[in-house]
Amino acid sequence: MSHRSVARAENRSAVTNQVFLALGSNLNDPVAQIKQAVQSLSHTLRTVKCAHLYQSKPLGPQDQPDFVNTVISGYTDLSPNDLLDTIQKIEIKQQRVKTRHWGPRTIDIDILFYGDMRMETAELTIPHKELFNRAFVTIPLLDLIPNGITPTGDQIDRNRYDSSTLVRIDT
Ligand code: ADP
Ligand code: MG
Repeated sequence: MSHRSVARAENRSAVTNQVFLALGSNLNDPVAQIKQAVQSLSHTLRTVKCAHLYQSKPLGPQDQPDFVNTVISGYTDLSPNDLLDTIQKIEIKQQRVKTRHWGPRTIDIDILFYGDMRMETAELTIPHKELFNRAFVTIPLLDLIPNGITPTGDQIDRNRYDSSTLVRIDT
């Protein structure tokens, strides 16, 4: 069996990709939830970098606690779908229970970028569909990519986002 087919048998792509993930929580000690998820993800991703943590107002229903959000980057040779599986296992481990759309959750982990890949399948849209519409994603993302140039070559315009809606949490 060639080296390549071994890699395929393990369901890994032959190349390592840099990925960016968005994390959010508004239940059961959100800062601790985020830290636990980053800890879990550090077993899957190499060279993890974490943006500052930010407190933000919930999207949609306002009768729920504020969110804590951040973005991390790291390197993986998992395929996008295997990365999604891993993320969903971490969400389940942290007892994420789905209540309602845009409702409260212990942890939400979304894939923002996977290298410079663009894909749209039933399970995955990469880059993440709402990325550019959410200050709680773009502002922490800018901590990690200060020039605002995304892996897919788009430019994040810092001035487009109202960062006053976010409070940086020093942890
Ligand atoms: P949301 O993140 O929209 O609040 P969920 O976390 O429950 O809701 O995700 C619902 C589905 O979104 C997941 O089962 C997954 O298949 C799909 N999805 C599509 N694109 C992405 C992405 N880039 N990252 C994570 N999940 C995604
Ligand atoms: Mg999600």
